[in-house]
Amino acid sequence: MNADPLEIQKFSELAHRWWDPTSEFRPLHEINPLRLEWINARVPLAGKQVCDVGCGGGILAESIAKKGATVTGIDLSEKALKVADLHSLESGIKVRYELISAEDLAAREAGQYDVVTCMEMLEHVPDPAAIVQACAKLVKPGGHIFFSTLNRNPKSYLFAIIGAEYVLGLLPRGTHDYAKFITPAELSGFARTAGLEVEALKGMTYNPLTKIYSLKQDTSVNYLVATVKSV
Ligand code: SAH
Repeated sequence: MNADPLEIQKFSELAHRWWDPTSEFRPLHEINPLRLEWINARVPLAGKQVCDVGCGGGILAESIAKKGATVTGIDLSEKALKVADLHSLESGIKVRYELISAEDLAAREAGQYDVVTCMEMLEHVPDPAAIVQACAKLVKPGGHIFFSTLNRNPKSYLFAIIGAEYVLGLLPRGTHDYAKFITPAELSGFARTAGLEVEALKGMTYNPLTKIYSLKQDTSVNYLVATVKSV
């Protein structure tokens, strides 16, 4: 199985606080409108079949459903999915959640999605290239896949680990493992191998003084990638 049990456990232990915007998940709440609108501007989500891979408590999945898409959210943390299900009941925004790996869902529902999203997840798995492959298999020809992850260079070590985990305390210590960060060139390579064409690359930056996240050209730390599957 292409999953690290310690990573799944880490997210499961915090899962009950997933929807608390002041919790460890605050950064996900704050970046969500940015990534959602970036995706929706590229591929209008209303009426689309969308799969959110590594959905956790469902912050992105619910917001995509709210745009009028039919959403399936998958993850390997049972606790995160329970939280996601409860939140969906409370909010009335319907999402189908399932405890299944991307690879297994891809075997069962190949080519059934218009859009796949896989955000802040690749840097937590043993074999990210296999996840990219599975995402590619899930979409129809011409379908779109959006990834986000952390770049790997001295600046990203300083900002994403030392800054975010030790100085600013935005994330619990040990959230991220520098060795698992992925450069845009590496991710583009995984995408091409999976039959995907990279359409756009966007940076996401955090200003510690204003405490505001924004989309920028600078992809040196956090970044998003838009890809499309060859027809
Ligand atoms: N994508 C969500 C959550 C990111 S947190 C968002 O951006 O808002 C990372 C999530 O990836 C956690 O929920 C964790 O349980 C999940 N995850 C880690 N390894 C996984 C794997 N191999 N398969 C599926 N999900 C995984």
